[in-house]
Amino acid sequence: MKQYLPELACPFCARRSPFIRYQITEQHRIVKCEDCGLMWLHPRPSLEELHEIYDEGYYHNEEFYDSAGSKLYGYYDYLYERLNKQYTYQKMADRADELLRRDRHHDQEKPAWLDVGCGLGFLMDVAFDHGYRVHGVEFNPYAVQAIEAKYTFPVTCGSIHDLDPGERYQVISLFDVIEHLDDPFGDLKLLRNLVSDDGLLMLQTMDSESLPSRIIGKRLEDFRRFREHLYFFSRQSMTRVLEAAGWEVVDIVSVGHTFQLEMLLDRVALYTPRLVKVLKFLIWPKWLLAANIYVNPHTKMMVYARPRAGGQ
Ligand SMILES: [Zn+2]
Repeated sequence: MKQYLPELACPFCARRSPFIRYQITEQHRIVKCEDCGLMWLHPRPSLEELHEIYDEGYYHNEEFYDSAGSKLYGYYDYLYERLNKQYTYQKMADRADELLRRDRHHDQEKPAWLDVGCGLGFLMDVAFDHGYRVHGVEFNPYAVQAIEAKYTFPVTCGSIHDLDPGERYQVISLFDVIEHLDDPFGDLKLLRNLVSDDGLLMLQTMDSESLPSRIIGKRLEDFRRFREHLYFFSRQSMTRVLEAAGWEVVDIVSVGHTFQLEMLLDRVALYTPRLVKVLKFLIWPKWLLAANIYVNPHTKMMVYARPRAGGQ
């Protein structure tokens, strides 16, 4: 039976029909609005609590695998995963070219690409090689320092509110970012004002109502990151939120990732540790553990959207 929380108003549609969808820990719940389908974490961590995790440890969290909950955030070893991530990003940059009807080999002009939540710059690196003029925004000061030590790309340390409001970008990307934002609805409106009329928004986030997401439910790692994940979208609720912010969805596709087999098994061990132990023992020859494989568990989506003509 659904347990309703009529004292809570939906942060998107303001109706008071949320119910508990997943009880994650004793204190942490993911609630869902019965009217618009949005899901969010309740109670929300304070801004101070959120900022606590965004430092160097976010990209190299040694306790990622061995804790039951409160250390499950960030990445175990983000730098180690760079090439695999960039392999996926390259295909996404190809798709951006295709949607912009751009031929990167003959393009004289360099279109501008804004990467929101640019992390250590992996996506900007790929977009740059695709012939874009890149600009990043990142509020983790450690990440900004790391980018500045390695690349010459301009990065704004802070939020999109710190960007020049007169600037226009052909591509705006948010990869694994929207679920972390304090006000994703207002930020998507602001980004609508920063995109050029023929521009493109690329938004990657969890697909919280896909069949596998519903089957795995609250055991899914994305749901358990209560230190950082604040909002969860389905294809329908994401479309509604984007439309309300002046965007028109062009396409939504399921995205997978390329993992080193051993890292993939370590992640699966978050759900079934014993099975993984047996598998690791059985896999032979051992170098197979270093092989890269592509997996698409259908728990993540990439949304492509265009600014709606006539503004908001
Ligand atoms: Zn709602």
